[in-house]
Order: sequence, then C-alpha cells, then structure tokens
Amino acid sequence: MSWDFQTEPEFQEKLDWLTDFVQREVEPIDLAFPHEVVYDKRHPMHDELIAPLQEQVKAQGLWACHLGPDLGGLGYGQVKLALMNEVLGRSSFAPLTFGCQAPDSGNAEILAHYGTDAQKERFLQPLLDGKIVSCFSMTEPQGGADPGVFTCRAERDGDEWVINGETWFSSNLKYAAFAIVMAVTDPDVPIYQGASMFLVPTDTPGINIVRDVGIGGEPMGSGSHAYVRYENVRVPADHVLGGPGQAFVIAQTRLGGGRIHHAMRTIGMCQRAIDMMCERALSRFTQGSVLASKGAVQEYVADSWIELHQFRLMVLHAAWVIDQVGGHKARKEIAAVKVMTAKVLKDIVFRAMHLHGSLGVSNEMPLIGMWTMAPVMGIADGPTEVHKITVARQVLKQYSPAPGLFPTAHLPERVAEAKAKYAHLMDHQFANDLL
Ligand SMILES: Cc1cc2nc3c(=O)[nH]c(=O)nc-3n(C[C@H](O)[C@H](O)[C@H](O)COP(=O)(O)OP(=O)(O)OC[C@H]3O[C@@H](n4cnc5c(N)ncnc54)[C@H](O)[C@@H]3O)c2cc1C
Repeated sequence: MSWDFQTEPEFQEKLDWLTDFVQREVEPIDLAFPHEVVYDKRHPMHDELIAPLQEQVKAQGLWACHLGPDLGGLGYGQVKLALMNEVLGRSSFAPLTFGCQAPDSGNAEILAHYGTDAQKERFLQPLLDGKIVSCFSMTEPQGGADPGVFTCRAERDGDEWVINGETWFSSNLKYAAFAIVMAVTDPDVPIYQGASMFLVPTDTPGINIVRDVGIGGEPMGSGSHAYVRYENVRVPADHVLGGPGQAFVIAQTRLGGGRIHHAMRTIGMCQRAIDMMCERALSRFTQGSVLASKGAVQEYVADSWIELHQFRLMVLHAAWVIDQVGGHKARKEIAAVKVMTAKVLKDIVFRAMHLHGSLGVSNEMPLIGMWTMAPVMGIADGPTEVHKITVARQVLKQYSPAPGLFPTAHLPERVAEAKAKYAHLMDHQFANDLL
C-alpha cells in the first residue's frame, strides 16, 4: 500500500520556514507596491528589497524548485512544488522571491531543453538568477483557443528567419529581455505540424507594441499584456527552438506545467479567502448573534472548505501523476484541475466577499481584486470549455461503442443472463415461497 497523505517531517520544516517568511517578509510588499512591479526590473525595489530576500530563500534550499539541479534548482518535483506554491499563492511577490514566477518558470524550461549553449548563457542564466524577465507570445488577436486561425508568419531568408504578424496579450513583453514567439513556418500542412517557436531578443528591430492591455479595473492604456506587431523581425537561423514545426510539442511542455502551477497558487488564494470568511463570521454580530451561528453562513463555510479540500486533493494528485509519468501523460488530470481552478476561486471568493457585506465589495478589502482573478483563471492558458474537451476525450478513450442495438447495461438481457446463471438457486427460492 502506498496511499499516503503526510508530508515528510524534513520538508514540513522547510514549509514552516517558508510560511513564516512569506507572511512576515513578503506579504507586506504586496501592500506597498503594485503587482506590475513584479516584472519591472528597473524598479529599485528589486535590488534593494527582493534580492536580499532571494538570498535567504537560496540559503534555505528553496530557490527555483521546479528546476533540476543542473539548472540551479533542487528538482523537488511537482508534489513538493504544489505544497510550496499553495503558500506562495497568497502573495503576488512570493513566486518572484522564490524564483518560480510565471511565465518565466515555463520559458526557462523551454530554453533549458531547446536553447543552444550561447542562448542559455545569454538568456537562461540571467533568467534563473532573477536578473531578467521573459515573455511568451502565441495568442493572436483573432483567436487564442483555436490555433487553426493563427497567421503570424516566419519565412526563411538566407541565414535568418523573418517574422511578420500580430500577437495579443503577450504578458510582460514591455519588461522582457526576450520573447518566445510562435509563428507559422509551413502554411501547407496543418498548424500542429507547421508552426515553430522562435527565441526573439526584445532589442531586435521591428517589435512594435501597438498598445498595452490591462485586466479590467486597470486604467485603459496601462497594463502589461501587449498587443504587438512583428514587422520584419529578423532572427538568426538557430533561433528556431527545437527545429521547424516543433511549436506545439514545445508549447505542451510549457503550458502543462504553467497550468498546474496556477492551480497550486489558487489553493493559497482560496485559503486566504476562507481565512477572511471565518474571521468575519466569528466577529460580526447581526440580529442578536454572530454570523457564524447562522445556518446559511455555516453552509458558506462548509461548502467552501469542502470545495477547497476536493480541489487541493485533485491538484496534489495531478502533481503526483506528473512526478510519476511526466506531464505529457497527465493531460486529463492537468486539464481537470485547470477547469476547477476558475470555478473554485469564483465560488469561494464570492462567499467571502458576500459575507463581508459592503466592506467586502469595497476597495478597503482585497476580495474584489481576488475575485477578478477567477475569470482570468478561466481564460489564461486556454478557456475552460477547451480543457473540458480534453478531459472528455481522455475519458471517452477508455470506452467502446455498445456491440449491439441496446446498451450493455440494458436490463432485459442482463436480468435474463443473471437469472440463467443463478437458475438453480432461484428455483429453490420459489419453491420455499410456495410453502
Ligand atoms: C491574464 C492573461 C494573461 C495571458 N497571457 C498570455 C501570454 O503571456 N501569452 C499568450 O500568448 N497568451 C496569453 N493570454 C491569452 C490566452 O491564452 C487566451 O486569452 C486564451 O487562449 C483564449 O483565447 P481568446 O482570448 O482569443 O479567446 P477565444 O479563443 O476567442 O475564446 C473565447 C471564448 O469562446 C469559447 N470557446 C472557445 N473555444 C471553444 C470551444 N472549442 N468550445 C466551446 N467554447 C469555446 C469560450 O467560452 C472562450 O472563453 C493571456 C490571457 C490572460 C487573460
């Protein structure tokens, strides 16, 4: 038997240190600086405030734990990373402080697998050291969920590739030292074989940001998700990562990890909402008693705890499957937690917000901001519907059509078969009944 829901004592000690460190040293940073500063390396807080904290994290052996030892991490695997991320998810600046923030974590894995030595030296090492940030540029303005509509094009010209086209919602492009850009290199075959990934240094001429887009609530024209036009952007031939036609193999490697890391961090956000919900339920008096004594409020607390507990077990199980067989064989599990992420966050944060009444929906509590993350989680890295299709296809693969006209569970045939099997005993029972 190997079912086990315990954390090893040595790792629990690390988690205890991490939890205390995040609450004491990192969560206050969220209150003083806007989220976007996470990626803006020009801001002096990175050298003065974040770098010394990162040194403490490194000294504890908790830096960049999603990476193997060859890349400066400890290769803890996804289960341990999940246990860490559910604490880091409570704070915007925590993933940066621990060297595992999106999209840099996924982009580092791509470069580690597919970059040349020179590319790794120029971009991967500074990325791992937290000195630069990066961008992943795939979604196009005419559609993100269906790659079949992508038109951004790269053509070979001598020793170079020339990229032309537009992408949309390319997060952090304006702060990035390089972007990983998807473009069609062979329009005569299906996109899944005809698209390639390019390493594009952002100081290359022809990368023109049409405008920055933000999440709802941010002033129009601000935000860190670029609508970008690539106009005759030239990169050397060896900047096509993994060779032409490999874009989707590479994207799957990266997006699988990214999706489950979002889910892990969402556990932390939901737990924070439950903490607020329970404190409020025990503090607020209405009509002669605390909110916590009212049935409807107890239902909020119970439903929220049950949903988070289910979600956490699903995430940890998916992480365990990835550790056992690799992310490419855990597509169903990863897609399922991606679907759950948006729903659980929406429901739990809504209840926490609602229980705080006017204060909950005000700008004096973080709840509205957390709630905005629910629809974002339902879209970023692919919409819920598309992930449900993945789950359904994987589940359906385990079944075959019924061999005859009626389902295999059709009762007349099954009852007849069962009666035939037990005929001798049934005769006996009828005989007794007649006595
Ligand atoms: C915060 C955030 C950050 C992002 N960062 C990046 C980034 O760094 N790089 C990048 O390349 N992209 C990024 N994206 C883009 C993201 O990957 C896309 O938004 C996503 O893939 C959906 O594409 P779309 O927005 O074009 O929506 P569409 O493809 O137009 O889909 C819209 C809706 O149509 C419905 N739908 C779509 N397909 C189906 C289907 N098969 N069946 C049923 N219904 C369907 C769903 O309701 C879906 O939500 C980011 C998005 C967000 C919100």
